[in-house]
Amino acid sequence: MSKDKPRSPSTPHRQSQGGKDFRKRVQRGKQQGETRAPQAASKPRTGNPSAKPAIILKAEREKSLQRRHPWIFSGAIECIDGAPRSGDTVAVRDAAGSFLAWAAYNPDSQITARVWSWQEKEVVDKAFFHQRIANALAARYALAIGQAGNGMRIVHGESDGLPGLIVDKYDDVLVMQLGSAGPEHWRETIADILQDLCAPVCIYERSDSDGRELEGLPKRCGVVRGTLPEKVEVLENGLRFAVDVAAGQKTGYYLDQRDNRAFTGTLAADRDVLNCFCYTGGFSLYALRGGAKTVLSIDSSQDALQIAQTNVGLNGLDASKAEWQCADVFEALRKLRDQNRKFDLIVLDPPKFAPTAAYAEKASRAYKDINLLGFKLLRPGGLLFTYSCSGGISDDLFQKIIAGAALDAGVDAQIVKKLHAAPDHPVLLSFPEGAYLKGLVLRVAG
Ligand code: SAH
Repeated sequence: MSKDKPRSPSTPHRQSQGGKDFRKRVQRGKQQGETRAPQAASKPRTGNPSAKPAIILKAEREKSLQRRHPWIFSGAIECIDGAPRSGDTVAVRDAAGSFLAWAAYNPDSQITARVWSWQEKEVVDKAFFHQRIANALAARYALAIGQAGNGMRIVHGESDGLPGLIVDKYDDVLVMQLGSAGPEHWRETIADILQDLCAPVCIYERSDSDGRELEGLPKRCGVVRGTLPEKVEVLENGLRFAVDVAAGQKTGYYLDQRDNRAFTGTLAADRDVLNCFCYTGGFSLYALRGGAKTVLSIDSSQDALQIAQTNVGLNGLDASKAEWQCADVFEALRKLRDQNRKFDLIVLDPPKFAPTAAYAEKASRAYKDINLLGFKLLRPGGLLFTYSCSGGISDDLFQKIIAGAALDAGVDAQIVKKLHAAPDHPVLLSFPEGAYLKGLVLRVAG
């Protein structure tokens, strides 16, 4: 990767938009100039305007591409030939002029180009996208992901060879999110291919992620093909969840936690469960079905809580065991501590605190805070399911934060399992940024 990698807004992470409160907390320091992420892309020099569109790298800056990392940062570029426009496909060449890749150009982003292909002979056209999307679908079917239900991430950006493109499937509705100039340029083509390959009743666009701004792209949402049904539902491991694709967070639902929710369900029997950042009740429903004694669920979004309660009804679960609180988790946890409430199983699944490493320090404090309180609220022998979906927090750092929280809470805890996103969110080995979701299951000493 380029030495001067500043930040990336557009990895296929969960969005942080659900976590406005968190972002405010984390950005306090940023406003004071402590962790400010660079905003404007530094413009590379113009090369030969009459040559074919190409990015010419500075000497010795081809290393990350040779390792097949798909991003080209502005600081690695010597000059731009041929006056390409945003979204155009350009050749990427090393300082000696040798071909390295075909990439989507975006002069307005610090990630000036994202690689489509490493093959000089490959043509980036409709057939190319058809092949890539078909491959992504085939990979999901080969992993039998559809067996868990009818919700699936069918395209996961860089890790599926389609930088900036996310497509989630909720039964027969597709939601696509275009996070960078490449997929933005090929929007109609991509929609046609999705229609052709998946025959959905609707393709809905949710190109409103925070990252679009940093890519110089306006936000855009709405129906792209077909008609959006009045109600969209996803079936997951036998549980029904209503999905608000138009106004919900991200593409409407968090598919990445599918397997982790199921795991929580298997350990919930006879326990008092606390689900923080519950959104539409994912972990709560699994806990209720798994035989939890009580489930207290907290989220700051009233809309999400309403859907969560609808979901309890949809599944015929015992609503009397479920308590819902619309609150800031930071404050709610303190109140629960002051009330001396105790739980046997706690889930902490906050929104993205640190989109990039630039936010890591502030984010670490926020993670430590909620985890310390979580540990204090657990009965002896209790389980903590704690997550970070921050690209800017590594697995190692997350584990260190949790270790610090346990120490300060005065508890001994063991990691009993490490968790990641479900397999329809694969991580390309040459693109470690794709491994955004990390989770630890901890058992405090009895
Ligand atoms: N666990 C969920 C996904 C959680 S997404 C699932 O399995 O579906 C993160 C959630 O945190 C969002 O629902 C968002 O509304 C909520 N949130 C963000 N900041 C919050 C805060 N300060 N207090 C409470 N909830 C918050």
